Amino acid sequence: MADVATTDTDTTAGTDDLVVLKGVNKHFGALHVLQDIDLEIARGEVVVVIGPSGSGKSTLCRTINRLETVDSGSITVDGRPLPAEGKELARLRAEVGMVFQSFNLFAHRTVLENVVMGQVKVRGTARAKAEAKARTLLDRVGVGAQADKYPAQLSGGQQQRVAIARALAMDPKVMLFDEPTSALDPEMINEVLEVMRQLAADGMTMVVVTHEMGFARSAANRVVFMADGRIVEQNTPDAFFTAPRSERAKDFLSKIL
Ligand code: ADP
Ligand code: MG
Repeated sequence: MADVATTDTDTTAGTDDLVVLKGVNKHFGALHVLQDIDLEIARGEVVVVIGPSGSGKSTLCRTINRLETVDSGSITVDGRPLPAEGKELARLRAEVGMVFQSFNLFAHRTVLENVVMGQVKVRGTARAKAEAKARTLLDRVGVGAQADKYPAQLSGGQQQRVAIARALAMDPKVMLFDEPTSALDPEMINEVLEVMRQLAADGMTMVVVTHEMGFARSAANRVVFMADGRIVEQNTPDAFFTAPRSERAKDFLSKIL
């Protein structure tokens, strides 16, 4: 499915699917960490991925922007297979924004610079334009006043919001969040979730790995439940949380809710 527009043989993936994984398998040595993963994410959809530790959630995210390669199967973003290397790969990484548990900001660059750098280096945006966009985005996530500080001078919640602004600066088509609030003190979790809720409301396509079930219920269009490298079940949040079908999901929910 290299070219959606000229393909009429595929009836499962509509043109509205932005990210499509088909038959994806991934091993780490003897460990079969992703097993026959089929997943289609529509444009504008918010998918929350949950499941026990070690079930493959992070690996799934990392394969979508090719931080990990796969052993078999195909992944397309906006109808194009993931590029293997070079400029095309850099562009893919820009189009697939990723926010990690650890904020991964550049410690020796100011907050503003963190949001400017990628625009200039990967996108080739002129510096003044990149700065203006960075300030707009920092305002939007509520940390505009921190622009000239260094990451270590910010709270964890503020740093994570900078990380979100940095990803957004690249005009991503989809945003991947891998446990974005897991490293935060409890009082800072909501300020980050609020930014994510706003993004979702603005129509961003999002894949969110999280243990925040309140967020899943209120912001997700779909919950994907993973265990042992497989997608065990998926459903609307309402249906999933009130009537999980698999024993694995029932067991998982009984432990966390
Ligand atoms: P989750 O995010 O659901 O906790 P991960 O995707 O991080 O799960 O990991 C799935 C499994 O793969 C775990 O057993 C983990 O230890 C293993 N794993 C993850 N990354 C690597 C790696 N780079 N090398 C070897 N094993 C890994
Ligand atoms: Mg993980």
